[in-house]
Amino acid sequence: MDFKGKTVWITGASSGIGEALAAGLIKRGARLVLSARREAELARVRDDLVAAGAASDDILVLPMDVTEYETMPGKVEAAEAFGPVDMLVNNAGISQRSLCVDTDMETYRTLFEVDVFGQIALTKALLPAFIERSSGQVVIISSVAGKVGAPYRTGYCAAKHAVMGFFDALRAEIAKHGVKVTTVTPGFIRTNIAKNALKGDGSRFDAVDQNIAGGMMVDDCAEVILKGIESDKPEIAVGKGREMQALWIKRFMPRLIFKIASGMSKPQG
Ligand code: NDP
Repeated sequence: MDFKGKTVWITGASSGIGEALAAGLIKRGARLVLSARREAELARVRDDLVAAGAASDDILVLPMDVTEYETMPGKVEAAEAFGPVDMLVNNAGISQRSLCVDTDMETYRTLFEVDVFGQIALTKALLPAFIERSSGQVVIISSVAGKVGAPYRTGYCAAKHAVMGFFDALRAEIAKHGVKVTTVTPGFIRTNIAKNALKGDGSRFDAVDQNIAGGMMVDDCAEVILKGIESDKPEIAVGKGREMQALWIKRFMPRLIFKIASGMSKPQG
């Protein structure tokens, strides 16, 4: 994949990994559709990119909530009119910091609405255009939590495992149409993911998680992801800490990973 002149639609572009991907893509000559709920933050991201040298005509701010599926046909129409779209990066997501016994069913539903159904719905809305053109790429920002279970994140791990399964299956289904699927499993990355995570009652965790605070810098994470896409990797692991070894240990020594995960400390907050 050469990004020059390509149109990339990023959800969750108002902060963190989505914002860093936007910066990395603009440097590579891509045109961007930026989506998230907070329009003012998306405008800030666009203005920062323009201040760094991007052409404002190359960036469309398209606010959306990925749980409002009924708005998606209109959003796809707007993105396609700006594009056509070459790549969708399903990055919008929220995490969790609560024990299962303390977590309301409504909170589990919210995690699944955003992290699973939001990604599926937007992909489904755009997929017919990709299939018609016999090209296109869907990138999923899953997580190490999509491969390994960890405490205080039962709903988040379940959601991220679900998207891995869905998009692995979709990859097999749509390869014959010339449409690619890339799954990404980040470890701990320094963003506001923990602050924005949900507590059991659905309120914001709003505290620093030491694992995230000590994680990989977000710009480095975006570079690894973009280089992985450029070299056509179907699955990209990105992170710098011991959590990355968990992917390998889970696969070959599952008993050991269960022991390690059981010892993970309670997040502060
Ligand atoms: P942030 O909290 O900084 O970013 C999350 C983004 O998702 C924001 O732009 C937010 O924008 C958007 N978002 C949340 N809910 C919705 C919604 N309903 N509709 C549209 N957009 C929404 O965290 P990260 O950048 O870290 O997270 C990005 C992705 O990376 C997530 O999928 C996360 O699970 C994944 N990830 C992160 C890791 C990390 O350690 N940071 C590790 C592994 C995976 P807004 O509030 O404006 O809607």
